[in-house]
Amino acid sequence: MFSRWLLIITLLVPVSACAQTSKDVDINAILASAHSLYKMDKTGANADYIPALAEVDSELFGIALVTTDGKVYSYGDVEQRFSIQSISKVFTLALALEQQGADTVAEKVGVNASGMPFNSIIAIELNQARSINPLVNAGAMATMSLLDGNETTKWQRVASWYNEFANAKLPVLDAVYQSETETNDRNLAIAQLLKAHQRFYGDVAMNLDLYTRQCSIGVTAKDLAIMTAPLANNGKHPITNKQLMSEDNVEHLLAVMSTAGLYETSGDWAYKVGLPAKSGVGGGIIAVAPGQFSIAVFSPRLDSAGNSVRAQKAIDYIAEKLGANVF
Ligand code: GLU
Repeated sequence: MFSRWLLIITLLVPVSACAQTSKDVDINAILASAHSLYKMDKTGANADYIPALAEVDSELFGIALVTTDGKVYSYGDVEQRFSIQSISKVFTLALALEQQGADTVAEKVGVNASGMPFNSIIAIELNQARSINPLVNAGAMATMSLLDGNETTKWQRVASWYNEFANAKLPVLDAVYQSETETNDRNLAIAQLLKAHQRFYGDVAMNLDLYTRQCSIGVTAKDLAIMTAPLANNGKHPITNKQLMSEDNVEHLLAVMSTAGLYETSGDWAYKVGLPAKSGVGGGIIAVAPGQFSIAVFSPRLDSAGNSVRAQKAIDYIAEKLGANVF
C-alpha cells in the first residue's frame, strides 16, 4: 500500500513542480532564441574610459524578465555581477521625485532630453535655462546633490532605496569605484560648471563621490529586472508587494526614460522599440513594458553612444515578440 502511494506521489510531484502555462513556455523560448540569435554578434567594444570596465569579459550575455505578477524568467549569464553605471540614474531620480517632489526636480534639475552624449559639457553651456536631464551625468550629479542628508545619511538612504527595489542587499564593486574615482576629472569639471551656474545643490566633491559610488553598485541582470519591475507595475513591487513610488512619479520617470534613456540615440530607440529604457556603460540596459513586464539585458560591448549592442537587439526582439511597444 505504502509503495503504491509512493509511486503515485513520485509521478505527480515533478509534473506539478514543473507545471507551466503556455505563456511561461513562450517567454522562456523567446529569451532563449534572443540569446542564440545575438550571442555571436561581436559588434562594439567594452567601455574603456573607466579602466576597470575594459577588463570585463566581453562575451557575457544574460537576459532576465519579470512580469507584473512577479514571475522571473532568465537565460544566459544572469548571475554575473557587473556595475550598474548609468542605470543607477533611474533609481536616484525615482528617490528624488519621491523625496523632493516632481516640480522641484523639474525646476532645479530639468527633465528635457539634451540629445547629446552622456558626459556632454556643451549641453550645459548651450541650454540657457541650464535644464539638465537627470539621466545623463550632469543631471544625475545634480539630482544626487538635491537629495537630503549628509554624506553618511544620504548614502544610507540611496543604498537602502536600491536594495528595496532589488529585494536584495547590493554591494559596491570596489575595483570599479576606485578605477572611476581615479579617472573622474570630466565629471568633476561638469559638477563644478553646474555649481558656477547655481545648478548644483551641495558640496561638489562629496556629491561626485556619492554619484561614483552609486554607479559602482554591483548588480546581476536578474537583480536589474527585479529592480525595474515596480516601474512596470505602477510603483508597486510585484515580488514584495510594497508600494515604492506613487503612480504619478512612475509616469514622470517613464517619460524621462522614453526621451533620454539611451543617450543621444533615445529617439531612434523610441522609434524602433518603443519602450522606456535606460542603458549604462557597464553593458546593461533595462526596459519597461507598463502593465506587462520589466526586462534587463547585460552584455558589455557598446555602440558609439554607449549602449550595449546585444542588449539593444535582444530587447528589440523580445519586445516585438511580446507585442510590447507602448506606442
Ligand atoms: N559612471 C559613468 C560616468 O559617470 C556612468 C556613465 C554611463 O553609464 O553612462 O561616466
